Amino acid sequence: MVESKELAPSQPRSDWDVIVIGGGPAGSTTARYLAQAAVDVLVIDGRDPIGTPLQCGELVPSNAEMKRLCPDVPEMDDLFRTPASAIAQRLQEMHLVTPSGKRLKFPFEGNVLDRVAHDEALVQRAEQAGANYLIGQRVETVEGEQVRLRDGRIFTARVIVGAGGHNDPIRRQHWNEESTNIPVKFVLMDGVHSEALELHFGGLAPGGYAWVFPKDGCSNIGLGIQRSFAKDRSLNLFADDFISRYEGKVSYSGAGSLPMSGTISSFVKDNHLLVGDAAGMVLPSNGAGITIAMIGGRIAAQAIASHLQNGTPLADYEAEWQRQMGAVMTNSKRAFRLGSIIFRLPDRLIDLAFNRLTKSFLWRGVTCRRMFWLF
Ligand SMILES: Cc1cc2nc3c(=O)[nH]c(=O)nc-3n(C[C@H](O)[C@H](O)[C@H](O)COP(=O)(O)OP(=O)(O)OC[C@H]3O[C@@H](n4cnc5c(N)ncnc54)[C@H](O)[C@@H]3O)c2cc1C
Repeated sequence: MVESKELAPSQPRSDWDVIVIGGGPAGSTTARYLAQAAVDVLVIDGRDPIGTPLQCGELVPSNAEMKRLCPDVPEMDDLFRTPASAIAQRLQEMHLVTPSGKRLKFPFEGNVLDRVAHDEALVQRAEQAGANYLIGQRVETVEGEQVRLRDGRIFTARVIVGAGGHNDPIRRQHWNEESTNIPVKFVLMDGVHSEALELHFGGLAPGGYAWVFPKDGCSNIGLGIQRSFAKDRSLNLFADDFISRYEGKVSYSGAGSLPMSGTISSFVKDNHLLVGDAAGMVLPSNGAGITIAMIGGRIAAQAIASHLQNGTPLADYEAEWQRQMGAVMTNSKRAFRLGSIIFRLPDRLIDLAFNRLTKSFLWRGVTCRRMFWLF
């Protein structure tokens, strides 16, 4: 095995069973399960170190909550082995907050992460399983079995996985399906700003939501909007307005983009697969992407290992994803579409729409369950 992170530029191995582009939650999980199945895998990532700079609200459901949210996904405790050192705060309640400040409160077990430590731990787990990493190197193009780096080097593999996030090079080059990307801004602010996880809705974050996630002496505070709802007002203005409601020293500011139209129609083309944000694996009704990318990564790895070892079709990946996550994703897309209608209403009507009678129905939408008995 070539030592990870130490692939000598002068004499790199160029032939692999599998190359994974991107070592975030999707890529490192794919690599971990491939290596555990004795598949020879190289992860290439443009960042050094992987996981920085931080671009995240850092909230994940606890394992127990994930089992309730995604009941068809097996062996969650093997998949999500978040070390205690990567969990900044554990919370038990989520509040949906209306434009006038009314709160609908729900029991919800959520962990606010130290996301950088979380992603480092995923890399370490994949390396311990035997995966190899080449970091600080961007992939420029992918053709057939060839991966060309920006510096001109070429690596080859029988199967190539695009886990490069919303701007993945394989997705850009070989898929022409568009996703709706939502721009997001956030800060880490010192101080205690809430006792619960908060999601705020209404004109303060048109078509999206704002969040306050308490994080051990500071808070992760941010918001995302749908541009078409924002009437030419910029994300920066919405973010500044919301963040200025809170007091404390800002120790970090970040931004990013989230694919919010759900999974694309196909994840496999010939020997290329997409996983994580690259495949749209973010639940649009709540923005959860970390755990969903990891679920996708494990399924992709199992399908690839079986393909290489037993000749089964790579398309088994899509069928298994559908079996484990199809209903959750469908419910989430529906809730997002319905939310997009409600969130075009003026704030006073949104306020009325959030009430004791609609409370459980709204929560079912946020948590990707069926909202009506028919659908
Ligand atoms: C501001 C913000 C807040 C968020 N908050 C939350 C949250 O609170 N909870 C949650 O669950 N999800 C959240 N998400 C979503 C979550 O971060 C993503 O869904 C998740 O990171 C997807 O994992 P991934 O591995 O698919 O992609 P990424 O984590 O984006 O990893 C992709 C990797 O690929 C590498 N890469 C990309 N292109 C190339 C290339 N050409 N060559 C080499 N390497 C490349 C990148 O360097 C990166 O390391 C948030 C996203 C944003 C932007």
